[in-house]
Amino acid sequence: MSTLVIEGLQARIAGRDILRGIDLTIASGEVHAVMGPNGSGKSTLSHVLLGRPGYEVTGGRVTLDGEDMLALPTWRRAQAGLFLGMQYPIEVSGVSLGDTLTESFRAGGRDPAAVGAAVAGEAARVGLDSRLLDRALNVDLSGGERKRNETVQLAVLRPRFAVLDEIDSGLDVDALRAVSRRVEAATTEFDLGVLAITHYTRLLRELRPDHVHVLSKGRIVRSGGPELAEELERTGYAEWADVVDEGGRAGSAQPVVDPFAGHLADPFADPLA
Ligand code: ADP
Ligand code: MG
Repeated sequence: MSTLVIEGLQARIAGRDILRGIDLTIASGEVHAVMGPNGSGKSTLSHVLLGRPGYEVTGGRVTLDGEDMLALPTWRRAQAGLFLGMQYPIEVSGVSLGDTLTESFRAGGRDPAAVGAAVAGEAARVGLDSRLLDRALNVDLSGGERKRNETVQLAVLRPRFAVLDEIDSGLDVDALRAVSRRVEAATTEFDLGVLAITHYTRLLRELRPDHVHVLSKGRIVRSGGPELAEELERTGYAEWADVVDEGGRAGSAQPVVDPFAGHLADPFADPLA
């Protein structure tokens, strides 16, 4: 049983304060959803947790079983058991998924001989075409394939805590179900703790959150149980409509219209493709 504790976390980028004091405690096996309008700081939180360069932490602490994560370089945080599924997984030319996981296993003192079979099994589980496994990481993959790819990495690496930044974006209905089911299963299979960042409730149908938090202007302004996600789907982020997003527009005061839900959108369209 492990615990990830985020206390009073504050961070800035390019001279702007983005995170203004985040408190969150996640235990093994728990799923915490962080929802919020665009520009509220969700991706920033995920980047700061894993130590992406460019962010300045101006206050607070992040510990994993008491160990100070903020003092460690990203690779050491990963070895300590943190995993990040990126909102926009980057292309790494010349390096395949198998290479990446093999090196991760080696670095962590695990037997890399197990990687091949594990990758094949996990790819089948989330419906990732095995022909894509030899390709350079994320190169020429659609948005949906990238998210499945992230999920395969997660499942093979078996971290203690996964921060998943909009793992649902770009996924069609079937892929969404496969990915969210896989992550949900991990919470019991290897007691994974999850910080699931999402704009939409649809991810949380299969990946059942124990706690739901609303992030607005870099602060958690509300926390509740799964019912809070359902409420947000009805009301949108109207309560926090004074938030200004990247485009300088006021945050959505409308109900959260999920472009993937219902009959209006083509469920097979891949907006990241
Ligand atoms: P979310 O993921 O909730 O949509 P982000 O964490 O991506 O929000 O962004 C939060 C705020 O930080 C936004 O106003 C965004 O414009 C700003 N921001 C993010 N990255 C940078 C950057 N590299 N330089 C300047 N501002 C940034
Ligand atoms: Mg984001």
